[in-house]
Amino acid sequence: MKKLFTKDKNSSFGDLLRLFKEDQIGLALVGVVNIESGMISARTERFNQATQDYTAAFRECDNCSSEEENRLFFVNCRKCGKSEDNYFWIPSGDGDGIYPVFELNHVNESNGEVETFGFAVVLFPTEDFVEPIVEHVLKNASEVESSLMAVSFSPGLLDPQSALEAFEVTSLKGSKDGQTVFFSDAMTTVDSNNVIFNMMLQNTDDITVLAFSEFYQAVYQGPKPRIIIGYSTNWLKEKGFKASKPRPSSQAVYDDWTIFGMANCHMNPMCNEAIWLNFKINEVMEKFNYAGSWLLQGALYGDSDCLKEIDRYQEYTSDPEWVTTWLGQRMQFQAAIDHEDGRLTFPFSPSNSNAIKFDRKSTVPFEDKCTILGQFWYEFRDEEGEMSDFIKSQDVGLPLAWFISTGVVKSLELGEEFINETFQAFLDVLQLEESEIVGLNSLTALLEKVESKSQGD
Ligand SMILES: [Zn+2]
Repeated sequence: MKKLFTKDKNSSFGDLLRLFKEDQIGLALVGVVNIESGMISARTERFNQATQDYTAAFRECDNCSSEEENRLFFVNCRKCGKSEDNYFWIPSGDGDGIYPVFELNHVNESNGEVETFGFAVVLFPTEDFVEPIVEHVLKNASEVESSLMAVSFSPGLLDPQSALEAFEVTSLKGSKDGQTVFFSDAMTTVDSNNVIFNMMLQNTDDITVLAFSEFYQAVYQGPKPRIIIGYSTNWLKEKGFKASKPRPSSQAVYDDWTIFGMANCHMNPMCNEAIWLNFKINEVMEKFNYAGSWLLQGALYGDSDCLKEIDRYQEYTSDPEWVTTWLGQRMQFQAAIDHEDGRLTFPFSPSNSNAIKFDRKSTVPFEDKCTILGQFWYEFRDEEGEMSDFIKSQDVGLPLAWFISTGVVKSLELGEEFINETFQAFLDVLQLEESEIVGLNSLTALLEKVESKSQGD
């Protein structure tokens, strides 16, 4: 008898976990990444024709940004070569936090080597989720013989019965030597205090990237993991695994992926916590160069825990060349140059701090600026009071923010400049630093912050 309604076989997250298990493919926690802007990106190395440079994967590009207006997931740029083949971004939550990054690896039976054919990133907006995973790993490390075993993670927290369905984000082009994938906040650039996590993949074929979430019509409102998985395209084909959902392109589905189920979120940038966890994870794996390099990055930005702990890494840091090299590995290119030229000396100190600039780009997303300023203008434009001078002085930026946030007009580059300047002026009047309000996306939340600050909180 003909079956009329059969579910696509091998399309859910539970199915994929089962297939991984069959082929003894394990998830191993290798690090964490902090996201602040509501967008995570993954990118592979790409050779830049224009500059004859491979490192351009993370260099700033004057011609493009990390996202294109009204376009989901991709950026096409001729100048730096960004395309669907090597780059994607995806909404990662409302407020963001620290997300664990896993290698998907297996042991090659012919030579006994561990090979990595894919990655997984779990997007979950609370520290509570990440902490037990990391603690589990750190605890295991003292109990098992091989430190590498300690970071293997049996996905108990990720339900093997999971019915989450996937859509395919993209297919990252393979490379004959394998390749490095970088994960970061999409707005993060080099020389930022955010984590840029990189992972070496050994497979040479394309990587199919799948994103899992619950169905749009689900009513469950609690936080639920969003998972991005990239794995060998050939292997997925061979196993008959196929995404069952179309890639979302409409605003409604996009909003669902962005916000639905995203509850608690942090209010402060999580870069220091993320750096610290990466240090711990690498130390447990006895990857001391990597462990030391995370301390180096933390120390560069004045994190007191890292400044203290890095004393134990004297045997590494006493070699100036090591410091320069590993600043570079952590994408602190300017600091590496400054260190090499003697403008920055180790140990880092506040007197060096002019060499350190914080990443201002990954702070308040543009849409949130428009929302906040727009709400402010709409509610207070006719009020007399201490803010009326400010409102008069910003008679372009404020109404513009309102029109952009309500969708009446589209933002152009010039408009963005106005909004950014107005937003900065707004913060100055309220005596707020942008870093203090990351994660706040409404006027009410912002005014509460002003209130709590004035009460000495
Ligand atoms: Zn570009």
